[in-house]
Amino acid sequence: MDLYEHQGKDLFAKHAIPVPEGAVATTAREAGQVAERFGGRAVVKVQVQVGGRGKGGGIVLAKSPQEAEDAARRMLDEGFNGMPVTRVLVEQLVDIAGEFYAALLVDRAAKRYLAMVSAQGGMDIEELARTKPEALRRTHVDPLVGLRPYQTRWLTGLLPPEARDGTADVLGKLHALLLDADATLVEINPLVLLADGRVVALDAKVTVDDNALFRQPDLEALAGTFPVDPTEARAKEHGLQYVKLDGSIGIIGNGAGLVMSTLDVVQQAGGRAANFLDVGGGASADLMATSLEVVLSDPEVRAVLVNIFGGITRGDLVAEGILEALKRVQARVPIVVRLDGTNAEEGRTMLQQAGHDRIVAAATMQEAAQRAADLARQAA
Ligand code: GDP
Ligand code: MN
Repeated sequence: MDLYEHQGKDLFAKHAIPVPEGAVATTAREAGQVAERFGGRAVVKVQVQVGGRGKGGGIVLAKSPQEAEDAARRMLDEGFNGMPVTRVLVEQLVDIAGEFYAALLVDRAAKRYLAMVSAQGGMDIEELARTKPEALRRTHVDPLVGLRPYQTRWLTGLLPPEARDGTADVLGKLHALLLDADATLVEINPLVLLADGRVVALDAKVTVDDNALFRQPDLEALAGTFPVDPTEARAKEHGLQYVKLDGSIGIIGNGAGLVMSTLDVVQQAGGRAANFLDVGGGASADLMATSLEVVLSDPEVRAVLVNIFGGITRGDLVAEGILEALKRVQARVPIVVRLDGTNAEEGRTMLQQAGHDRIVAAATMQEAAQRAADLARQAA
């Protein structure tokens, strides 16, 4: 779960990590009032669960309460990059002497935390790691021993001398926060040196491990503040496991193992999944129809791949479900179907007899993946 910047900063403040003075506003009027407290010199920041706000018009430096109010109104009315915006953060403008980068995250491959610091803040860190890796200092942190002083000294070694102690202090507190909040990522970009010598977190990105939310009731309570993807909500309502990805093929399978291997085979065939949905065992015709509706409602989907291995799930019911779904929703893309196992023969015959122009039958998983990948590419 990705927290909003202001929620991350609340956690920072609890751990005594310095942040600018500010408050959240849910109306333009409120934003103007907060800016007034700072004599109008304020920054208005859209609150969304993605970065890149600076480039996208999501950060406005205001010189008067009116400017802050106008900026907030625009953000709340227009949203940000297609996402709804329900709140903005209004902060006192600060005088920046230097912008840096600091982060701690879980490095799964290394089974360690990873700490990173750079003197080049405010920019895309992946880009920096690629083009100027020497500008980024990284070190692993043993989960039992924690972040040691020699590590923070080394990490902060590329920063201007007057920013090193303050940053080392922030790193220690950031590490404590990471553990306390069961976070998988805490990132400050930029961490800034102010003209008066203080080191302050100007931005906050905190990702909390979803699987730890059961023991983080305060954080779990924040989940209700985030916009829900309507497709995901619909799937959840029907007890379907649906996950949104960023490719163009919608995938429906039964059972986690088959769905995962379908993803692999699609990838092998040169395709990319737009999402995947596990209908589980014993899927009825109605559930199959709902699954297709859910997957088709994703506008990124250019082709659907239904891959069912019948065990408890019967192939004839799957076929019935697909045909039922095609009465309920308009199939705007081709649907590649591979049926195998229990009653697969009956299911295939039903689909064939229906003769629906969107249904593409495939005999094997490889063939199905290849067809879906080709069809998605042609439609792109
Ligand atoms: P992001 O683009 O979504 O990561 O948003 P950030 O919170 O990192 O802000 C982007 C940039 O806005 C920062 O790198 C700063 O250069 C600028 N910025 C934000 N707050 C202030 C401020 O109080 N004073 C000044 N001068 N610049 C600010
Ligand atoms: Mn940032």
